Amino acid sequence: MTHDTPNKTGHNRESRLFYQSRSRRPLIDHAKGVYMWDVDGKRYIDASSGAMVSNIGHSDPRVIAAMNAQLEKASFAYRLHFENDAAENLAFRLAERAPGDLERVFFVSGGSEAVESCIKLARQYALAKGQAQRTKIISRFPSYHGSTLGALAITGYTPMHAPFAPMMVDQPKIPAPTCYLDRDDLSDHERGLKYANMLEAEILKQGPETVLGFIMEPVGGAATGALVAPDSYYARIREICDQYGILLIYDEVMTGAGRTGKYFAAEHWGITPDILAVSKGLAAGYAPLGAMIAPDRIVGPVLDHGGFIHGYTYAGNPMACAAGNAVLDVIDEDNLLENATQSGAALKAELGKLADKFPIIGDVRGLGLLLAVELVKDRETMEPIDPKHLAAARLVDIAYDKGLIIYWRRTRGGYRGDHVMVCPPMTITHDQFDDILIPLRAALGELQDELTLAGAFA
Ligand code: PLP
Repeated sequence: MTHDTPNKTGHNRESRLFYQSRSRRPLIDHAKGVYMWDVDGKRYIDASSGAMVSNIGHSDPRVIAAMNAQLEKASFAYRLHFENDAAENLAFRLAERAPGDLERVFFVSGGSEAVESCIKLARQYALAKGQAQRTKIISRFPSYHGSTLGALAITGYTPMHAPFAPMMVDQPKIPAPTCYLDRDDLSDHERGLKYANMLEAEILKQGPETVLGFIMEPVGGAATGALVAPDSYYARIREICDQYGILLIYDEVMTGAGRTGKYFAAEHWGITPDILAVSKGLAAGYAPLGAMIAPDRIVGPVLDHGGFIHGYTYAGNPMACAAGNAVLDVIDEDNLLENATQSGAALKAELGKLADKFPIIGDVRGLGLLLAVELVKDRETMEPIDPKHLAAARLVDIAYDKGLIIYWRRTRGGYRGDHVMVCPPMTITHDQFDDILIPLRAALGELQDELTLAGAFA
C-alpha cells in the first residue's frame, strides 16, 4: 500500500526525512478532538492517539492558550539558571497524584529519557548506599522500554534489540505474564504467582547482591499488546522486590496520565513502586515531556552523595511543563479518567463482538483505553500467523485507507505474532465508536479474505 502519488499525498517534493521503512503517508493538515485531516481533506479517526500519546485529543484550545501564554512570558529558561513556575507547579501536582511516597520529580523530554533516568537513579542510589556490586536491572520479555542504548538493554523486543546487542551490557529477562497463552490447569491467581515467582528465581540465579532493580510496564504496551497480569502478580512482585532489597521500577510511559482509567496504572493494584517513569500522555502530544518520580528516601541519599549525575538540556522546559499543567486541568475538568474507564469497557466489549465474527481475532485485552486485538492463525491453539504475511501491518494499512488509524506491533518478542492497539483519546464518546468499528470490521474482512487466498490458514 503506497501513498506516494503527489496529488494524493500533498507531497510536492522528495523527502529528506527518514524514519523506518514504511511507505510515505499523506501530509497532515489539521487535527481536532479525535479526528485528523490530511491536505486533501480526507478525515481519519485517531484510534491509536498517535503512539498512545494524544490522550486528551487534538488541538484543545485550553492547552494551546496555556502554551501561548508561557511562550510569551519566557520561552526557555535553563534549569541551572532559573527555577520556573510551570515545572514547579507540575511537579507538585504529579507528586499529589503519584502513589505512596513518590514525591520527587525529575523532568525529561520523552519515554526513553525517563527510563534512562530511572536506571541512573537506581544505580546512584546503590552507590550512595555502598552497594557498588549492584549493576543489573531485570526486565521482562517481551517488553519495550525505549530506544536509547540503556533503555534498549532492558527492552525485550528482538527486532529493535538484536542489532545493538553486542554493544550493550545484556540485562537479565524473565517471561512477561502471558497467561492467555497458557494451556495448563492453573487458576488465574496461581498463574499470576507462577510468573511473579520467576522473578525470585532470576534474582537468586543472578545473585541478589548484584541486582539493582526490576522494571515492568504495569499494563504491557505495544510489545505485548495491552497485557494485563492477574492481580496476584502485582502484589507478589512487590513482595519479592522488598524481600531482596531490589528497587521496583514501574514504566508508566504509556499507562500513566490516565490511559488505563486511573492517573497511574499502579493505583489499580494499590502498588507503590520505588521509581516510576511517565511520558506520552503527560503533555499528551502538545509538547515533548516525560518525568521520573521517586521518593525522598531514594533521592535524598543520592543528592547527599554528590548529586544526581544526569540531565538533559530540555529538562523542565517551561513550555512543555505549561502544556503538562494544562493537560492535567483538561483531564480534571472533563472527567477524562472516568471516561477512559467507561468508554474503555464499552469499546472492549465491542471489540469482543468483532471477535465473534472474525476467527482471525485470537484475543481482545487491555484496561481502560489501552486495548489490543491479537491476530492468530488458530484461536484454539493461539498459533500465530506466519510472519511473512505481516498481518497486523497489513491491517493497519487497509484501515488507514478507510480513514482509521490504529497501531501495530509483533506480539511474541517481536519475531512472531501480531496485534493492533486500539487506543483512542480519552475524550472518545460512544457515538464516535462507529467511526472506529465500521472501518475496522471492513478491514478485518478484507484482511481475512487476503490471508485465506494467500493460504495463511491452511
Ligand atoms: N516505555 C514504554 C512503556 C513505551 O511504550 C515507550 C514508547 O513507546 C517508551 C518507554 C519510550 O518512549 P519514547 O518513544 O518517548 O522514547
